[in-house]
Amino acid sequence: MQVSAILAEKGHEVATASPETLMIEVMETLAERNIGAIVVTDAGRRVAGIISERDIVRSLARNGASALDQPVSSFMTKTVVSCSASESTHDLMAKMTEGRFRHLPVVADGKLDGIISIGDVVAARISEVQREADALRDYIASN
Ligand code: AMP
Repeated sequence: MQVSAILAEKGHEVATASPETLMIEVMETLAERNIGAIVVTDAGRRVAGIISERDIVRSLARNGASALDQPVSSFMTKTVVSCSASESTHDLMAKMTEGRFRHLPVVADGKLDGIISIGDVVAARISEVQREADALRDYIASN
């Protein structure tokens, strides 16, 4: 299954923040929306970074509560691995495994166009495997 098919089902909406957004606001958005990461974008909707719950834990461990009053740009990951609409679940799994992260922003024409989480990849793989098993069962039954 391709990224385009996953996005067609889940939508293109992404929780974003600007680099100046405070860590406390990022934390509140993660909690309110029950998500694990926020993509940081510039004024042109280009990806400037990503901040996940893991970065927040790290910032608190190193700086204490004062981290919460600092901008997200101080703690986000700035070198972001992204994916495109034409990539497959296999491509996504390879990138997530190699990079040891659970989120991949989707970029189209240089701009943020969606996000794929590890949960989306697992759900897509389960339906792929199910479809393959159904096709095999149908084939065996008809021969
Ligand atoms: P996660 O597994 O998404 O909670 O992220 C674990 C760590 O990887 C955090 O430091 C994130 O900032 C970073 N990270 C998450 N997604 C990406 C990505 N697509 N590219 C680069 N780093 C990422």
